[in-house]
Amino acid sequence: MRMKNLLVPTLREVPAEAEITSHKLMLRAAYIRKLAAGIYSYLPLGLKTLKKVEQIVREEMNNAGAQELLMAALLPAEAYQASGRWDVFGPSMFKLKDRNDRDFCLGPTHEELFTQTVIDEVRSYKEYPMTLYQIQTKYRDEGRPRFGLMRGREFIMKDAYSFDLDEAGLDISYKKMYDAYCRIFDRLGLDYTIVDADSGAMGGSGSQEFMVKSPVGEDGIAYCDDCGYAANYEKAVCIPQDKQYPQGDLEMTKIETPDVHTIEELVAFLNCDAHLFAKTIIYKADDKYIAAMVRGDREINEVKLKNLVGAIDDLELAAPAIVRDITNAQVGFAGPCGLSIPVYVDLEVANMKNFVVGANETNYHLTNVNIHRDFEPTQIADIRVIEDGDACPKCGKPIKTAQGIEVGHIFKLGTKYSDALGLDYLDESGKPKTVVMGCYGIGVTRCLAAAIEQGNDENGIILPVSIAPFEAIVIPVNAKDDEQMAMAESIYNELKASGIDTLIDDRAERAGVKFKDADLIGIPLRIVVGKKCGEGIVEYKLRKDESASEMTVKDATESAVRYITENR
Ligand code: ATP
Ligand code: MG
Repeated sequence: MRMKNLLVPTLREVPAEAEITSHKLMLRAAYIRKLAAGIYSYLPLGLKTLKKVEQIVREEMNNAGAQELLMAALLPAEAYQASGRWDVFGPSMFKLKDRNDRDFCLGPTHEELFTQTVIDEVRSYKEYPMTLYQIQTKYRDEGRPRFGLMRGREFIMKDAYSFDLDEAGLDISYKKMYDAYCRIFDRLGLDYTIVDADSGAMGGSGSQEFMVKSPVGEDGIAYCDDCGYAANYEKAVCIPQDKQYPQGDLEMTKIETPDVHTIEELVAFLNCDAHLFAKTIIYKADDKYIAAMVRGDREINEVKLKNLVGAIDDLELAAPAIVRDITNAQVGFAGPCGLSIPVYVDLEVANMKNFVVGANETNYHLTNVNIHRDFEPTQIADIRVIEDGDACPKCGKPIKTAQGIEVGHIFKLGTKYSDALGLDYLDESGKPKTVVMGCYGIGVTRCLAAAIEQGNDENGIILPVSIAPFEAIVIPVNAKDDEQMAMAESIYNELKASGIDTLIDDRAERAGVKFKDADLIGIPLRIVVGKKCGEGIVEYKLRKDESASEMTVKDATESAVRYITENR
């Protein structure tokens, strides 16, 4: 492709709307343009890269024996109503009506549709196992669309669904997808960690997420370098930590703590450590209110708590007016003693003695509180967020934590959808049984953002050969110099003839502009034809390397072909 004919309106300025590197660079490198929050158009370079990501995903899914099909994105409500998810998705689902006032939505994920397809089309148990997939645009009205392609409202997902006769079959289908995912993310050049994930309160017998560690990731992951344990925060098992507490059966005492609302204020006021307090937080769980307690220096994991109480919707902090109603006090003074709502207590709190809690009275706290003696918890369970240095639940060594970008998710669904929608089969002896399902997602557009988040420097994007928009670029320093142009054209033609996806920068731009653009848009290999053209010497440089080397035209072309074919 000739740069002259390519729409690459690169930007020198960093767009104000972008917060993270990958988003800034995708705008600057003219990969994408924003249409509305979380909605983007793909310019030629972005689309080309995206197609390469898609192709890798497609090849590995096909190699794993999955079959590609394509569902509609505009979907009638009925399928989601039957599974209950028409309501469960809440405001995240884009809903609309047709001219006859019928309800439709834009598909956020397609479990229901695939299940229905198998119900309609599969005639015999002999056709199982079967894995179907599509690469398709999904729609989710995310609460916080941000970071460019990382969290879009319109994004491309590869979603696959496996259908098996029994759990043992599901285990095999799941493992095939696990292996295919490893190959996909390896080929995308992503440095990823596979973590155990929460399979939710609603069944499912196992789930793992593929995470790219990054400070801009929105998921917390805990991992152990010693034994290899890795889990996301929702799933990570917290081992209670022992601390010293005042001994003996001390008498519970009410103390005045004027204007002391937060743990930090309490620590300063009483001049002691935060682990001597337990905080009590009031949540709205569906249509009821609950209290949850963790040690003063810990945080509540709302997903663990949600699963524990079996809530359908995400938990919400109770509004201040409700907290006042429930505790008879201003926000900041809630405690477990005398509360009329259920109190869920973290495992670690159960080990505490003679600790401090809110008194349910404005400007007062209680000291020397003891569990069971002074209040009775509804349930004691692991409801806290794991922290750096916590004991690894597998080997006891210190855990590390990091932020991660979830690029893929594999999930043993079991019979959740086959039960809800009626996907049965008759076995050999004619007995009806339920099909066992798995689902497997990859955020195709998010993968591209993650690859750039991971591969960049101050000059721009650094993508692996496998997904870069072009594999090589040839730059004649001076497009007006006929000799340089002729040599550049001949290298370009030779690379193309060898099957290398090559770009030639034939624009009448200054050399500096061409170099900047080539770096910015992330072409892995560059051959520059300049002053030494007369001697048959060109400059050869890999985008990821600091320095360039001089070579004969022949060596440069041969090295380029070798490097590209070895690194695809
Ligand atoms: P998240 O927790 O990030 O919201 P999710 O768990 O809801 O994701 P899944 O339903 O498991 O996502 O979707 C499968 C994959 O689709 C995810 O692993 C992720 O890579 C991608 N994905 C999900 N939501 C988005 C989004 N809003 N924008 C881009 N990619 C997304
Ligand atoms: Mg997920």
